[in-house]
Amino acid sequence: MDGFVQPVTGRGCADAVVPMERGQREVFCGLTGIIWLHRKIQDAFFLVVGSRTCAHLIQSAAGVMIFAEPRFATAIIDERDLAGLADCNDELDRVVTRLLERRPEIKLLFLVGSCPSEVIKLDLSRAAQRLSRQFMPGVRVLNYSGSGIETTFTQGEDACLASLVPILPTATTASLLVVGALAEVVEDQMRRLFAAMGVAPVAFLPPRSALDLPSVGPDTRYLLAQPFLSDTARALDERGAKRISAPFPLGVEGTTLWLTAAAEAFGVGAAALESAIAAPRERAERSLDRHRALLAGKRIFFFPDSQLELPLARFLSREMGMDLVEVGTPYLHRQHMTPELELLPEGTALVEGQDVERQLDRCRAEKPDLVVCGLGLANPLEAEGIATKWSIELLFSPTQGFDQAADLAELFARPLVRRAKLRV
Ligand code: SF4
Repeated sequence: MDGFVQPVTGRGCADAVVPMERGQREVFCGLTGIIWLHRKIQDAFFLVVGSRTCAHLIQSAAGVMIFAEPRFATAIIDERDLAGLADCNDELDRVVTRLLERRPEIKLLFLVGSCPSEVIKLDLSRAAQRLSRQFMPGVRVLNYSGSGIETTFTQGEDACLASLVPILPTATTASLLVVGALAEVVEDQMRRLFAAMGVAPVAFLPPRSALDLPSVGPDTRYLLAQPFLSDTARALDERGAKRISAPFPLGVEGTTLWLTAAAEAFGVGAAALESAIAAPRERAERSLDRHRALLAGKRIFFFPDSQLELPLARFLSREMGMDLVEVGTPYLHRQHMTPELELLPEGTALVEGQDVERQLDRCRAEKPDLVVCGLGLANPLEAEGIATKWSIELLFSPTQGFDQAADLAELFARPLVRRAKLRV
């Protein structure tokens, strides 16, 4: 494959009728978003109101026992009947009061709901309002649901960011808002690129500090950095902000088109854009070569899990020359995904939703070289001799932008290299 941008012919998959599957689903819980969100908003605390299962999930998703002062915890609500709910609220108030007394650096507290029935009975939005009244102006208390029922794990971030939108200050001037948690190194690179392009002011949601909430209003144009933020986008639309339609900044092509869309929205000329992005883009193109040699021609199968599947499939097919066997996505937001669908090869086997047994049958029959899936499916597939990539790793690693394009490709190359070594 020469060069990275293949000419776009026709409308790709933009007009494709995507079959929908409704069956048993293998999904991971929305609480996991806390793991990357707590690193991002450095004066926020995430208090999961949940069961022992939720506490275990958070602890194991964090991957380590925390010895330093963590910025997330679980308030365990044991089984109670409705009559016990008043005590529950009192207990929650006591836990929050003790936490905030001990941790004066906390400026924003999220009460994160979960799916056990005893938690569903609790009205966490009233609890958040009550506690906010008590602790404002020092600490604001918000709530969102990280429940694992009928959701995918990335929806936790969407719910968290959507809960922030109503409290953002009102903007009075034009600005660009980049929406979606990005690793700090990526955010810094994006800031430098926007500055070089002459796009200003630029703010990020979520911010690094709760004291630095971005403003939003009718003159705000926003650019989604993640493809799973439909509730947040709706909340921003309600504040009058306008979305800039673009593919997502994964890979060289995605990043180029994402920045180009921002440039067009802010009246930046082609020459100014080119002079800002030419050098990092060319460096990134070169960095992909060694991974392309390994990935080109390999067949990849996506189980629906993260909602990142379409942009990843576009990157791996167009820039790395991989063959797409099947691309499953938990949800297909047509409006947000049209720029991605237009770039996918016509005839790509797309599926929305999941019927896991049928998908496993198709996967086994196709014998792909690599499967992208959730944790629950990875081990059994590996045991059957199929190389896998955990989709959750894509959220834990910096992958967006030019400088991360090679790291993104490497995430897919690594399981193939490992399997080749095992075979020797
Ligand atoms: S929120 Fe639900 S799915 Fe997630 S860990 Fe708790 S009990 Fe499990």
